[in-house]
Amino acid sequence: MAIQRTFSIIKPDATRRNLTGAINAKFEAAGLRIVAQKRIKLTREQAGTFYAVHKERPFYDELCDFMASAPIVVQVLEGEDAIARNREVMGATNPAEAEEGTIRKEFALSIGENSVHGSDGEDTAREEIAYFFSGLELVG
Ligand code: GDP
Repeated sequence: MAIQRTFSIIKPDATRRNLTGAINAKFEAAGLRIVAQKRIKLTREQAGTFYAVHKERPFYDELCDFMASAPIVVQVLEGEDAIARNREVMGATNPAEAEEGTIRKEFALSIGENSVHGSDGEDTAREEIAYFFSGLELVG
C-alpha cells in the first residue's frame, strides 16, 4: 500500500472536552503521523461551504451550527493507506455502531457530535487539505 495523506478534523465536542491529545494519541498508535495541525474557529459560512455536499440532508443546519460552535483542530495525517486507516480508527459515524477501541466509540457524544471528521477518498482528501493548508504548512 502507498503512503497517503488524509485530512482530519477534531470537532467542537472534542475540543470543548479537552480531548485533542487523547485523540491524537489514537492516530499515532494507529501509525498515522500528524504532518500539519492547527486550531481554528470556523464561521457559520465556512462550515456551510465545507459541508456543502450535505446541503440537502435534514441535519445540514444543525451540523453547520455545531461545527461553528467552538474551535476545531484541522490536521493532515500521513501514513500507509492513511485514508482507510483513519476511517478505521475513527469508527462508524454513529457511535452506537462503532467498534470497540475506535475514537467515536470512546469519545463521541452522538451521531452529530461525533468528535472527528476524516476524508472519505483520495479526491476529497486532496481538496480538503488544500482548503485549510498551504504547501508550506505540510511538514512530512
Ligand atoms: P462521516 O464520513 O462518518 O463523518 O459521515 P457523513 O459524511 O455521512 O456525515 C458527515 C457528518 O454529518 C457526520 O460526521 C456527523 O457529524 C453529521 N451527521 C451524519 N448523519 C447525521 C444525522 O443523522 N444527524 C445529525 N445531527 N448529524 C449527522
